[in-house]
Amino acid sequence: ETHTHTETEMEVMQVLHMNKGEGETSYAQNSTVQRNIMTLANSFIEEALVVLLCNNNYPESMGIADLGCSSGPNTLMLVSEVIGAICAVSRQMDRLMPELRVSLNDLPGNDFNNIFVSLPAFYNKLKEEKLGSGFDQCFISGVPGSFYGRLFPRRSLHFVHSSSSLHWLSQVPPALDSKAGVTLNKGKIYISKTSPVSVLEAYLVQFQKDFSLFLRSRSEEMVPGGSMVLSFMGRISADPSDEKSCHQWELLSHALMSMVSEGFVQEEKIDSFNSPYYAPCPEELESEIMKEGSFTVDRLKTIEVDWDAGFSKSHEAQNCTKSETLTSGQRVAKTIRAVVESMLESHFGKEIMDELFRRYTLLVDDYFSKARPKYVNLVISITKKG
Ligand code: SAH
Repeated sequence: ETHTHTETEMEVMQVLHMNKGEGETSYAQNSTVQRNIMTLANSFIEEALVVLLCNNNYPESMGIADLGCSSGPNTLMLVSEVIGAICAVSRQMDRLMPELRVSLNDLPGNDFNNIFVSLPAFYNKLKEEKLGSGFDQCFISGVPGSFYGRLFPRRSLHFVHSSSSLHWLSQVPPALDSKAGVTLNKGKIYISKTSPVSVLEAYLVQFQKDFSLFLRSRSEEMVPGGSMVLSFMGRISADPSDEKSCHQWELLSHALMSMVSEGFVQEEKIDSFNSPYYAPCPEELESEIMKEGSFTVDRLKTIEVDWDAGFSKSHEAQNCTKSETLTSGQRVAKTIRAVVESMLESHFGKEIMDELFRRYTLLVDDYFSKARPKYVNLVISITKKG
């Protein structure tokens, strides 16, 4: 079955990428929140691999994929974690390590080269650390393309992982796309308390369409008994306009709106922008898994992570002076900027980015004076039926 990409989908594929390289505003330098999220899901990975390898068909060669791998320290940290977990299970079972085929996937605009140049050192480290523990071979490759569609040959994958990626939709919901000519979500860039129900519905429908296509594609690529550990932004509340799942976008829309009066940004530009993002609740997720039908849910939990990766707490604990460290607003703004800048830049223009994130920093600092905001993440482990 093939899936052709629509024009609006092409736009997300071309525009969305985390900030490249290793500079001040890069994703590589500003992905501590995502690293914390990944670490909190480690027990899911370990558990899934134990179940996978302890069944009767212990593979000789194992297909592993990380979907939405991005670039920076988190990418290979995940690979290390998975290899370490497989080593541990093999040792326990007194079996030889399987040969590992690790595919790193992201959209074509991702900084794959940054990953590739660090591979020789990574292979060396692996050899040193894992030598003698029966570690055989690991072949890492890059697979550019959208995970909303087929990426791998049939029945080639045993273990699939994805962290902090599946909250990205394949496209802006068509009803909200600027080309639709109507502006349903005035002054906002994601679901908000002020959004009409039609906006909430449009987002949910796009999520359902995308997530079911994701499942269908993986179901063809995975072996029976293979498992997937997915973690991404979500929500606990049934209400998609709940502050906890939207407020980072709400403050960003406030920062944009504050720039309208001074002529930095045209209001219509904000009205016509909606983020290709959706934070589902567990019920919405489970309902798509049920409908698609080829996976069973092993475990699902919600985890919460501080917006500023816990720095404000450790800062207080260490009694630092203000000048020694960044404010929570600065940390949050850097985290968000590394993720959304490519998208905002292409719609609003490069010129306003510094000013936008300066204002965003102030709004977030102000919010931190009243709240200790946390992101909600869903972690789920599912198995391909036999
Ligand atoms: N897993 C890494 C990176 C998360 S950043 C970590 O936890 O740190 C999210 C990544 O998902 C981005 O690099 C983005 O390009 C990628 N992404 C978003 N939509 C995608 C899609 N449809 N197909 C593949 N990758 C996608």
